[in-house]
Amino acid sequence: MSRLVVVSNRVAPVDEGKTSTGGLAVAVLAALKRMGGIWFGWSGEVTTAPAPEPRLFDVGKLSYATVDLTPRDFEEYYNGFANSTLWPLFHYRLDLTSFTRRQYAGYLRVNNLFADKLVPLLEPDDRVWIQDYHLIPMAEALRRAGFKGRIGFFLHTPFPAHEVLLALPSHDDLIRALCAYDVVGFQTNRDLVSFRDYIIREQVGEIWDDGLVSAFGNVFKAAAFPISVDTDTIVRMAESAVKARQTVRMAESLGGRSLILGVDRLDYSKGLVQRFHAFERLLENYPENRGRATMMQLAPPTRSEVPEYAEIRRSLEEAAGSVNGKFADIDWVPIRYLNRSINRRTLSGFFRIAHIGLVTPLRDGMNLVAKEFVASQNPDDPGVLVLSRFAGAAEELTAALIVNPYDTDEMAAAMQRGLDMALDERVNRWQEMFAILQENDIEAWREHYITALDAAPYRD
Ligand code: UDP
Repeated sequence: MSRLVVVSNRVAPVDEGKTSTGGLAVAVLAALKRMGGIWFGWSGEVTTAPAPEPRLFDVGKLSYATVDLTPRDFEEYYNGFANSTLWPLFHYRLDLTSFTRRQYAGYLRVNNLFADKLVPLLEPDDRVWIQDYHLIPMAEALRRAGFKGRIGFFLHTPFPAHEVLLALPSHDDLIRALCAYDVVGFQTNRDLVSFRDYIIREQVGEIWDDGLVSAFGNVFKAAAFPISVDTDTIVRMAESAVKARQTVRMAESLGGRSLILGVDRLDYSKGLVQRFHAFERLLENYPENRGRATMMQLAPPTRSEVPEYAEIRRSLEEAAGSVNGKFADIDWVPIRYLNRSINRRTLSGFFRIAHIGLVTPLRDGMNLVAKEFVASQNPDDPGVLVLSRFAGAAEELTAALIVNPYDTDEMAAAMQRGLDMALDERVNRWQEMFAILQENDIEAWREHYITALDAAPYRD
């Protein structure tokens, strides 16, 4: 049987008990854990003298192969083109998007390096599955290095609208690179439509009746494969975590108040400032919540070397301080804001005791927290999910209270509606969402994708 080789920027051997670095690592690990395979990527180490060969180690059925980056790679590829150009651009933040040719060259260089290090580990019938925006040019690099097997790509972030993408000076190279894969997977139909739109409007290819794309001399499948969570594991985790010391402590500290919970990496795409303002509006427009509802926002810092992340941290501290200064009482602080990462097991307990899960990104590829919140609920007394229409998860979780994160009054009204919602409505909405997560869990995601990749024509 041919092996599955997953490649992502960062290889992170996370597990439920440990703190993770974000949705991609959580999902890739869950996808590979049962089936086994190789996970190749950056070790997370930055050194002036990287080892010439990848470091190899096995954990269960999974083999890890990691490479180090130099300080220059880290600066130009990771902090540079990946996180200062593509990340903001793909999240519709042209105001935060910077571009330099030096960083772009660094991005291509690291993609070539990854391909050169990976090829010696590959067997001809391996299936290579590249993850995310850091590694778009890797199929071209692997082909140049002689690999002829199937190569798929999955984009975890949104794919931007055509006009937004045109702002990137190298947009044509990037799309050509994307068209070198056998399967290009997106989170949602919205992303797929944007991709097809680019192909048609820029006249670089055609979309055939069966949905295949023909462009730059390659014919490939482009489709939506909404990523998901390990639903059964989260259910079990939440059932036990609710009795754990941390959750009990948290519940006791609330003193019977309703918990409105947000959990996000500290990132400008997550709409945290808008969320704090919406909670402030809740306290203004519905004063009965003063002293009765507590908002807790967990926001572990990431990418702290990128200046925009320091800026978002500052503005959030300011927003939380201002709301607390205005409304706090001697025995109640409206917003508990923690720049800490919490392990997923503990999180599942927090989700289960929360009355409202507040997931209101300005743009998000999928947002696994939304799905984890739903999977963690008590079926007899579930909490309410307030979900941004701009999160990929909104395409599936239509039974959430869907909001526009730019509309402060609407978000406040949704929170109020959630706090007031009768048990039967909460149960109905939750059941609808949970059924979707049972059908499309992380295993289904992997299987759908791999089936599509296996159906791609083999090159010779
Ligand atoms: N997460 C975590 N601890 C934290 C914050 C987040 O383990 O303190 C996990 C969370 O449970 C989820 C992932 O990190 O599995 C975040 O994924 P999501 O798709 O929501 O957002 P991303 O960080 O990938 O943008």
